[in-house]
Amino acid sequence: MKRNIGSSKQVFGVHGYINMEEKNMVVELLSVGTELLLGNIVNTNTQFLSEKCALAGLSVYYQVTVGDNWDRLFEAFQTALSRADIVIATGGLGPTEDDITKEVCAEVMGYPLVEDAHTRVRLEDFFKNNIYKEIPENNWKQAAIPQGCTVLDNENGMAPGLILEKNGKAAILLPGPPNELIPMFTNQVLPYLATLVAKQKTIICSQMVKICGYGESQVAEKVQDLIDAQTNPTIAPYAKTGEVHLRVTAKAASEEEAKKLMKPVVKELKNRFGIAVYTTKEEETLEMAVVRLLKKYELTVSTAESCTGGMLAARLVNVPGVSDVFREGFITYSNKAKRKFLDVSKSTLKKYGAVSEQVAKEMATGGVFATDSDICVAITGIAGPDGGTEEKPVGLVYIGCYLKDNVSVEEYHFKGNRAKIREQSVMKALDLLRRSIIENYK
Ligand code: ATP
Ligand code: MG
Repeated sequence: MKRNIGSSKQVFGVHGYINMEEKNMVVELLSVGTELLLGNIVNTNTQFLSEKCALAGLSVYYQVTVGDNWDRLFEAFQTALSRADIVIATGGLGPTEDDITKEVCAEVMGYPLVEDAHTRVRLEDFFKNNIYKEIPENNWKQAAIPQGCTVLDNENGMAPGLILEKNGKAAILLPGPPNELIPMFTNQVLPYLATLVAKQKTIICSQMVKICGYGESQVAEKVQDLIDAQTNPTIAPYAKTGEVHLRVTAKAASEEEAKKLMKPVVKELKNRFGIAVYTTKEEETLEMAVVRLLKKYELTVSTAESCTGGMLAARLVNVPGVSDVFREGFITYSNKAKRKFLDVSKSTLKKYGAVSEQVAKEMATGGVFATDSDICVAITGIAGPDGGTEEKPVGLVYIGCYLKDNVSVEEYHFKGNRAKIREQSVMKALDLLRRSIIENYK
């Protein structure tokens, strides 16, 4: 079954996407009175209420009229409460035998009737000022209310209006005479409905925690307890090549409240993953985070690539404004080029081979000296599908990073086809660059 969706929009906030969700509340109008069914009176209450509800942003799906009959009224209340958020019943609140609305509704919703002292006093006052000083016994019936309900004082008659709430639903019982109903609805019910509508508005905010250096299953294992325990906000992992994103999503009445809910969860994730978290900004990519750090510490970088053929440089150049920090990118595919541009020694190439820790180290070092940049990241590896040996299989990649007279080299054994191996190499190179800066400048 389709539910009415009022409106839904997505805006992009500083911390992530914010979804504003508004679903109209559904109202059912229940007119009680056999005289309505007989055509003795015109149902003006329903016309009045329908119009006001529509103006208040509430959706009326059904207008039901039922006689003063216990069983049929019982069924009408049950049905209305099952399919609407709010049921507004009019009529049948008076003192006579056939006025049974309150009694039936209380039974449907499971509330016993108890005497309301405040209403009793009001009834006494009403009779004091009335020409009939004697209070007829059946009038005390009007002082009985369903336990725990809200009483709406009737300024123009005796029977008070009532609001019964249960399981997120509300039944509002109003007197039948229009001169009693209209002011009660306008002065007391409309403000109540406005608070319900305000409560109904939910905002969905989300914030991304982007993690590099952990595999999908490692991330899942480290946060499984949080995923299981959290219902608001929720945490959802998304695996990407070489990185895992955790989306923290909170639902609340306001953006501020949603952010408040997300804050401790994001903090906990940052604690658990430490510097592996490269950003909490939705739109920031790994290369953007790297360029941000380079700019922050006023560092320049160059690249020396073999198997990735310029992909690392291209990723850096994705970032607008990278010219402040990016010096030069070498694609030294052949041994000759490694020697010519990066001054990798002939003997190192001969002794260890082009795909080796030593060559990665010399490539990174040579890159810094050739460009006078602060950092050089070098990549050398076997992307396949051919060229692998038992000793040096396809997927073996060395990544070197020269920074502050120190070169760190990492060895990787990537799985996948040529494209995947090259893509993973670039991710790891960007991450090594990022971690090297943080470790040296924290
Ligand atoms: P009372 O205390 O007067 O008995 P009540 O809440 O029990 O009020 P009813 O007995 O159902 O209400 O109706 C009382 C009178 O209110 C009706 O005779 C009629 O004049 C008016 N009335 C009731 N329902 C409606 C309606 N839906 N539209 C217009 N007038 C109505
Ligand atoms: Mg009546």
